[in-house]
Amino acid sequence: MEGKTEKLVIIGSGPAGLTAAIYGCRADLEPLVYMGTKYGGQLMLTSEVENFPGFPDPVLGPDLINKMKSQAERLGARLVQDDVVRVDFKKYPFEVYTPSGVTKALSVIIATGANPRRLNLPSEMRLMGKGVSNCAVCDGFFFRGKKVAVVGGGDTAMEEATFLTKFASSVQVIHRRDELRASAALKKEATENPKISFVWDSAVTDVLGEGKVQGVKVRNLKTGAESTLQVDGLFVAIGYDPATEVFRGQVELDQKGYVALKNGTESSVPGVFVAGDVHDFRYRQAITAAADGCKALLDAEKFVKQKLEVTVPS
Ligand code: NAP
Repeated sequence: MEGKTEKLVIIGSGPAGLTAAIYGCRADLEPLVYMGTKYGGQLMLTSEVENFPGFPDPVLGPDLINKMKSQAERLGARLVQDDVVRVDFKKYPFEVYTPSGVTKALSVIIATGANPRRLNLPSEMRLMGKGVSNCAVCDGFFFRGKKVAVVGGGDTAMEEATFLTKFASSVQVIHRRDELRASAALKKEATENPKISFVWDSAVTDVLGEGKVQGVKVRNLKTGAESTLQVDGLFVAIGYDPATEVFRGQVELDQKGYVALKNGTESSVPGVFVAGDVHDFRYRQAITAAADGCKALLDAEKFVKQKLEVTVPS
């Protein structure tokens, strides 16, 4: 295999990367997918998914990923559970490094996603999917008539809080300052919603409950006073960190570290395409990431076809 140049390397194995792999097989690009040692992305931490088309009954997040994985494998994708540790997009063919060695590629799709920021409380991780969530659109439905809390003061927190009022009986927004960072429109919508109240200058110090969330402990950062909020759900909406460290200096990133798009799904480097939450901080849904994977593949297919026509004239 030494010296072989791949037509397409896909980095990432959430819905974006795996959809690109499925389409890549159909386009005869024989995709090689570096899935990462912790494959699957955010869906691996989600419980029931009820909004992915094609599943009339709820499907568990990890099951959905495993179905996509099986579909890609059945079509011929090579899925490798390795982390990409370095890339060199200044060379062509591109070079992609893993602990096992270097792979040369005519095109690359970056689909490494973004990681929701955590409060870093042990109880938060223990109750993740059991009342603690990072996605109101995914999980809000399960809190019909219940009390929930949202942590954060940015656009995501306001959007999540407002969305949750469709289901929850009350939404308490816990913010570490007394001023919201969110844009004027989202702030107005949230502050004028009668179901939403604010717990200012406060931090969550513990999530209470054994098998499911029963409340949160909150400390007022100005007075030090501690209190308990009786809630059934906690939505942590304190931002995301795009998984782009390995691409720094190789493709253009925006101010927040997301990969900047230049031409359709193409990055600043022709031949390096982008799909899913690694560039999209706005929609962040499994279905939009999957659609992005498809678009990136169609762009990569055109790019590779041109390259092959130039290098191997028929
Ligand atoms: P963000 O703007 O970075 O806001 C994060 C919020 O969480 C801030 O209020 C921050 O507090 C708080 N926070 C951060 N770390 C915390 C911690 N450890 N403990 C407690 N609170 C913490 O993130 P975002 O709201 O996800 O938005 C990210 C980007 O996406 C923004 O550019 C936003 O405009 C965009 N976005 C746009 C839309 C839309 O246009 N519809 C929707 C969602 C997001 P401080 O304020 O004190 O820093």
